[in-house]
Amino acid sequence: MTTSREVRLKSRPHGTPSPENFEIVSVELPDPGPGQVQVRNTWMTVDPYMRGRMNDVRSYTPPFQLGEAMQGGAVGKVVKSADPSLKEGDLVQSFLGWREAFNAPAGAVQRLETHGLPPQAFLGYAGMPGLTAYVGLIRIAELKDGDVVFVSGAAGAVGSLACQIAKIKGHTVIGSAGGPEKVAYLKEIGVDHAIDYKAENDLTAAVMRAAPEGIDVYFENVGGAHMEAALMASRPFARFALCGMISEYNNTDLGRGVRGLIMAVGKSLTLKGFIVSNHTDMQAAFVKDLASWAASGKLKPRETVKEGIEAAPEAFLGLFKGENLGKMLVKLG
Ligand code: NDP
Repeated sequence: MTTSREVRLKSRPHGTPSPENFEIVSVELPDPGPGQVQVRNTWMTVDPYMRGRMNDVRSYTPPFQLGEAMQGGAVGKVVKSADPSLKEGDLVQSFLGWREAFNAPAGAVQRLETHGLPPQAFLGYAGMPGLTAYVGLIRIAELKDGDVVFVSGAAGAVGSLACQIAKIKGHTVIGSAGGPEKVAYLKEIGVDHAIDYKAENDLTAAVMRAAPEGIDVYFENVGGAHMEAALMASRPFARFALCGMISEYNNTDLGRGVRGLIMAVGKSLTLKGFIVSNHTDMQAAFVKDLASWAASGKLKPRETVKEGIEAAPEAFLGLFKGENLGKMLVKLG
């Protein structure tokens, strides 16, 4: 028997989640049965979309079940194998995060080829958040030469890669994030106008100062005042890639709405939402571009790392308090 600790959803939050919504439970794992592997996770990710899964509502991903281990991306090592396709020591990726170890059919994990990148990169800039930035800019916003690009949540996992892709492609980039440390990072990755939105009384005025001629593309991660600033600062025919609105995820109702949406009519704006899992056909192009950008040293990814399974709820809650610079990760074992 192997002991593993896992994080379970203890109760559903009403509004902002708290540590009381989670519980950490020890389980005993027998040896894997035929066709199964036993994996010990080395890294797991916490992501904003998991907040929606804590609610008992139907969405594009099913809700977490009360009393059951939560799920999410993880990388780990096969420690026991009863399937010929995988052997002890293989590095694998799965959606069975939020636990130290697990038994699963071999088909529930994917062997991970790192191509020289650190394994945890595949939970961040080389994984789902990276593909999200790529899809949002290239397919959804239809990035064109000369576009001025505004990114909110710019120092986070998705936002920081969106800024870097836009810079690599030669665009003027405006990035908004909370606090001086994040602004310093935005400058380090080449963002032309880094806005500390927490220090601004008038975010719309700050974006308009940064882009006196207006913005052509808005990469939306935050919602609320950021969306309003983008609507006011956009040029005619600007395109909005609506990736996320984290400032709204803990609302208990539909919120106060977006002021200035009328701008979308007069300026002929395109506002387009997307979910990355509907665009996996772009994975091959993303991997090719990412490999060349990484090889040329053009990417400066950052991570915020919490240690141990017991820190996973705190890491997740930290996303809603801006505690991460770059990708928020939990290192296990
Ligand atoms: P981040 O790494 O950006 O972490 C979340 C950040 O959001 C925090 O660090 C904080 O940064 C900011 N934030 C939190 N609460 C607020 C608030 N009330 N107001 C303003 N900013 C806030 O997360 P990800 O990069 O993983 O995700 C970014 C966005 O992309 C999220 O909205 C997420 O849901 C979305 N997403 C969408 C996908 C899709 O398929 N459409 C896929 C993946 C992510 P700061 O300190 O700057 O405030």
